Amino acid sequence: MISPQIIQDYRRLFVNRPAYTLQSARPHPETGRHYYFTPKKVGTGAPVELTEVTIRRHLDGEITIGLYAINPDNQRCKWLAIDADYQNAMEDLLKLQYRLTQDGVEPALELSRRGGHLWIFLARPLLAKDCRVYIHDIALRLGVPVKGSGQREGIEVFPKHDSIEPSAFGSALRGPLGIHRDANRRFWFHGADYTVDAQIAYLNGFRKLTEHQLEMFIAGKERPKPDNSPQERGTASGRRARPARLEFRILEYVAPLRKVGRNYVTRCPSCAELGHDRSGDNLAILIRDPRFYKCWAGCAKEMIRAALGRPTHMEIA
Ligand SMILES: [Zn+2]
Repeated sequence: MISPQIIQDYRRLFVNRPAYTLQSARPHPETGRHYYFTPKKVGTGAPVELTEVTIRRHLDGEITIGLYAINPDNQRCKWLAIDADYQNAMEDLLKLQYRLTQDGVEPALELSRRGGHLWIFLARPLLAKDCRVYIHDIALRLGVPVKGSGQREGIEVFPKHDSIEPSAFGSALRGPLGIHRDANRRFWFHGADYTVDAQIAYLNGFRKLTEHQLEMFIAGKERPKPDNSPQERGTASGRRARPARLEFRILEYVAPLRKVGRNYVTRCPSCAELGHDRSGDNLAILIRDPRFYKCWAGCAKEMIRAALGRPTHMEIA
C-alpha cells in the first residue's frame, strides 16, 4: 500500500515537470524490449500529465514511468543523475561517489543491471548547465569516461543538455523504485531496506545540494563540450525552435551520408549509441518520403526515436 505521503515525497524528490514517458507493457515483437513512449490522450492527442495516480501505479509496479531532468520553463532540474551501465561501471560510480562526498555532496546509489545510477538531489531547482559543468569536471579529473565525448562507453550525465527548446523534452531516465520491464524486477537504492517506504524515508534524509555550493564548485570551470546529440547540434547551428507537436522528421536529426538507389543512407543513431555501425550506413531513409526509414541491423523505430531524444507517442485512455 503506497501512502499519499510517499507519493508526495516521490514527487518532491523526482518530478520536475508534468511531462513523462511510459514504458510499454508489452515487449516489442521483434526485439523483445520494452520501449518508452510519450503518452497522449486518445482523440485529442494532448500530452498526458503526470498525476498522483500515475506515481502510485509506478510505485505499485503496475506501470513504469520515465522522468525528464530539465523543465524547459526555467532550464532547471531538481536532481542530477549519473548513469553507468558498462563493465567496471560500479568501480567508476564508487570513485565518483567518494569524490562527491569530499565536496560534502551526498549521492544516493541506485543499483541497476550492470551498474547503477548516482542521484544527487538539489535543495531547489538549479540550472542544468551549471549542474553539467560540475559533474563533467569531476569525471574529467577522475579519468572517468563520459559517453558521447568520443567515448563508446562511459557515464551518462542527466540532464544531458545545457538547455532545451520550449517544446522539447530532453532525456528521460527510468523513474526509481518502479519495476524495470526488461528485467522484470525492481532495482533498489543501496543502504536501505528493500521496501518503497524504507527507500523513500532513506532518500528524504539525503543532504540536498544548494545553489551556493554549486556556484563555488563550478567557479572558473569550463562548460563541457556539448554531447554529440541532435538537439545540441540543432541549437549550435541556430536552427529555429520547433513549434510544439510538429511531426517528427528524421532528416532534421541525421544528415544523409550518400544516396543508394531510392534511399539516403547514414549512421543509425540507435546503433551508434550501442557502439555499432562503424561504417555509418546502417540507416536507410526513403528519399521520396522520409517518413519511411529502416535500420539494416534491425533497430526498431522506437529505438531510433529514443536515441534521438524524440520517443514515439502512444495514445492511452
Ligand atoms: Zn540501428
